[in-house]
This record gives sequence, C-alpha cells and structure tokens, in this order.
Amino acid sequence: MGAGSIIPTPLRFSSGILIESSKAGKILLDIGPGTIEKLRKLGVNPNEIETVLVTHLHIDHVVDLLPLIKLRAYASDKRRLKIYGPKGIKEWLSLLITDQRLFGYLSRLGCPDLIDVHEKHSGSSLLNPDVKVSSTPVQHFGGIAYKLELGGRTITYSGDTPRDPKLIEFARGSTVLIHECSFPREKLFGKHTSDEDLIRIASEVEPEVLIVVHLYPEMEEREESLKRRLKDAFHGEVYIPRDLDIIEV
Ligand SMILES: [Zn+2]
Repeated sequence: MGAGSIIPTPLRFSSGILIESSKAGKILLDIGPGTIEKLRKLGVNPNEIETVLVTHLHIDHVVDLLPLIKLRAYASDKRRLKIYGPKGIKEWLSLLITDQRLFGYLSRLGCPDLIDVHEKHSGSSLLNPDVKVSSTPVQHFGGIAYKLELGGRTITYSGDTPRDPKLIEFARGSTVLIHECSFPREKLFGKHTSDEDLIRIASEVEPEVLIVVHLYPEMEEREESLKRRLKDAFHGEVYIPRDLDIIEV
C-alpha cells in the first residue's frame, strides 16, 4: 500500500503492506497515513482486515490505526480487529481511545470492545490455525520485525531497522523478505538501512523474493541502480514497489 517514508513523493508514501492469502485472509503489516485510502483504491473493504501487525509506534507506521478502529464501530457486523505490536502498544492505544483529552470519544462508540491487542517481543504464536507469526526486536525505538508462516511460505518484514545480524538470522530461509532501505550510504540518517547494507543483507539472507520498501526521496532517485546492484548480489527476484503495486508469490 505504502512503500515510502513520511515524506510523500509522486510514487510513494508511508508504510503499509497488505498480505492477502486464501488461508490467512487479510493482514496488514503496518498502517501508516494513507493506508485506508489505498485500501479503498484497491477495492478492499477495511472491515475485512482481520489483523494488523505494527512494527513500531512511529507516525509513518501507525497513524491510520485509529481510523480503522473507528470505522469498525460503524459496521453492522462489528468484527473484532486483532492488533499485534511492540511492548507498550496496549497502554499507548488505551490512552488514545480512552483519555478524553485525546480521542476518548472512541470509547463511547464501543471501540475498546472491538479490538484484541497483543504485545510481541520475541517468540512465536498462531494468528489463526493456518498462520504462525514470530517476532524479534530490532534496533529502532523499541520496534520489532515479523515473520509470517503460511501456506508453505515464509514472509519476513523488517520494519525500520539498521542492518542487524540477529534479524538476518531470523530472516534466513524466508521465501519473501520485505526489508527497508531508507537512504544511500553517504546520506544514511537515523536508525535505518542504507543501499550498501541492503546489498549485504540480500546476499546473507538469500530470499527467493526481496521486496524493498521505506525509500526516502534520496533513495528513490537511485531506484534503478539499486535494483541492478541487488540483482547482482544474490539469486532471488527483486522488487522495489511503488504504492499500490501488487506482487503475487
Ligand atoms: Zn518509518
């Protein structure tokens, strides 16, 4: 849904990935600003999202969560939304939807009864009988990365992180690796992954499919050369999607 950063470009904006599978249903990985509008553009009913997996509580990854919760309160079938996130997400969300100085009116709409919030750190659990979710901490403001195992395929999503040997170990053997690549090396800023870091990561993880996300404008300018260099670095397929691109695995 969103393959860029907090800085909008004509091609990309903030983080959000929709995983659709016959067994898993509809799962969102992060839900940054614009995600709901993009669900609308793709004709996906937001009431059908079963689970949101949040990597960390930064604006570009989480801001559309409140609208998603609110619109469920207006749906006739009142389907519950499962939310997974890093340590602290329970208190954070509870504050937002109950404190009258913030968005406390959501409580009067019954929103607290429409969500099941689970805090993750490391370890595995079942999202449903067909989908296993694992997580591991990353070095980005208390964030976590996720791994989904469904239908014989494994999808690992880094969220925001610098290159991290623990994450590489966690991701090894994945069918699909969705990894951030924020900046070119000489412009690397904050706790993020550079183009050169990602080339190394691709060769270490050797996924069948690498999907590169979270490009800041400086990285987007070099999209073509990044793709060429990544293709030389390992044997799998490389996608650097734009917002709303669909990748079938
Ligand atoms: Zn981010």
